[in-house]
Amino acid sequence: MKAAVIHEHGDLDVLRVEDIEEPTPGAGEVVLKVLCAGLNHLDIWVRRGRSGGKLQKPYVLGSDVVGTVEQVGENVTSPKVGDQVVLNPGLSCGRCEFCRRGEQSTCVSFGIMGLSRAGTFAERVAAPADNCYPRPDHMNDPQAGAFALVYVTAWRMLMTRAQLQPGETVLIHGIGGGAALASLQFAKLVGAEVFVTSSDDDKLSRAKELGADHTRNYHQDDIASWIKQETAGRGVDVAVDAVGAATWPLDFTCVRKGGRIVLCGVTTGANAESDLRALYWNQLTILGSTMGSTEDFRQMLRAMTVNRLVPVIDKVFPLAQVRDAMERLETGRQFGKIALRIAP
Ligand SMILES: [Zn+2]
Repeated sequence: MKAAVIHEHGDLDVLRVEDIEEPTPGAGEVVLKVLCAGLNHLDIWVRRGRSGGKLQKPYVLGSDVVGTVEQVGENVTSPKVGDQVVLNPGLSCGRCEFCRRGEQSTCVSFGIMGLSRAGTFAERVAAPADNCYPRPDHMNDPQAGAFALVYVTAWRMLMTRAQLQPGETVLIHGIGGGAALASLQFAKLVGAEVFVTSSDDDKLSRAKELGADHTRNYHQDDIASWIKQETAGRGVDVAVDAVGAATWPLDFTCVRKGGRIVLCGVTTGANAESDLRALYWNQLTILGSTMGSTEDFRQMLRAMTVNRLVPVIDKVFPLAQVRDAMERLETGRQFGKIALRIAP
């Protein structure tokens, strides 16, 4: 079968599409015929070798997928052959104290599809049956294949970790990225007032169409003074950060006293200065967030289905053009999710 793989870590040139052996389902697993798969920043980290994952060559990238169940392994009662499913990309042991508490994303051996086992950028992928959920029928293939990872991440950040309330104010940096757009959609669903930033005026006007209440170009304006001005000196209740080093210091000046900063990614780097004086004097809460628990995933999927929310799709590429797709993500030109069409 065809798959997008790497044989070594490195830049875009290490990525290739080639024929590899088809997967077989282990006990408790299914094999999906992949319809569409979605790109995430995680794929870039895995390719570059910064994610700590073990590399079995050739290594298949990709975490998100919609597909049709083609084979089921031993002890699988659900899903059944022929079902169309999406995957919760988070992998957990199911046995440790954290899994038993229902906190699967703090599992001692937590992993992700495409990071700790072969990923979804292939004509077929094997995955645990427990990670399969019926595909939301209000989404087309690229939408269904590209939302899971960032939407469960955004759900956990806003709902479980930051416990966002109706009427609260939220600042979301770098609108255009998948996690930022998902956060915008969920913040509006809750009834929050949302501030977004970008360096691209076109992305800001599109964010406004999706419900952003206030938008600002960070190349033209000082974001800290803008927030101060818009909130009458108070600051926002919650800062949502998937950007990392470039925006982290700003979070400390933009949240109100007693406010929350929630971080789920570091696309601009992992090392940044923190204003410790603001942290204690303003009694801030810093929250890290990774992926989501089984319950986070179930709630997120239910919320998207009931409210007929769909991810914004930036562009769909055929598997053969996975390099172009990843280059687009890597240069930050996208607005929304980039998907790969794998089966017609
Ligand atoms: Zn566990």
